[in-house]
Amino acid sequence: STFQELGLNEDLIKAITDLGFEKPSEVQAKAIPLLLEEDKDLVALAQTGTGKTAAFGFPMLQKIDIDSRTTQGLILSPTRELCLQITNELKLYGKYCKGLNVVAIYGGSSISDQARAVKRGAQIIVATPGRMKDMISRRMVDISKIQYSVLDEADEMLNMGFKEDITDILSHTPEDKNTWLFSATMPKEVATIAKKFMYNPTEITV
Ligand code: AMP
Repeated sequence: STFQELGLNEDLIKAITDLGFEKPSEVQAKAIPLLLEEDKDLVALAQTGTGKTAAFGFPMLQKIDIDSRTTQGLILSPTRELCLQITNELKLYGKYCKGLNVVAIYGGSSISDQARAVKRGAQIIVATPGRMKDMISRRMVDISKIQYSVLDEADEMLNMGFKEDITDILSHTPEDKNTWLFSATMPKEVATIAKKFMYNPTEITV
């Protein structure tokens, strides 16, 4: 299949052409049409390197309202490095989405700088759970209008002990949002999280 056939808009196709991506990877071919067409929860078993960032990134970029400055998308990832990598990828994918503001939130760096960046109006926040929880409790971020949440590398986040932080963060988001969970493995703990926070998710494996 081609990226056009998956239903992506012109702004995203232009960015994809610039990046030199020739065709969708397997996880992209499976996830993108599903996430674009329906408001559905998703559990995807996919390793790093499969193109999973674009699999959730393209649909999120297409579905959010870029004319609004409200935070609509939240991506939780286990480490600062991953958080920055996802942020950079989303900026590349969204380079023709005029007015797009993606902000990274992670520990070990100035919290007030990050709060200022969010205040300027971030449609998408990419965060590590600890710092995110901290900023919520200090009322530096408002995630009450989130429509799309991603739990990236869910198994890693749980291994690192972020279960309570994730639970706390998601309790500040609307119940009717969509949740897209990506994990390399599916231990019991991940299945439990999926069951707790997701409604009848579609499952894909690559
Ligand atoms: P990820 O699994 O999201 O970490 O992606 C791994 C790498 O593959 C990233 O550097 C992406 O820029 C790249 N990539 C993602 N999708 C494609 C694609 N369809 N064709 C070629 N490269 C891709």
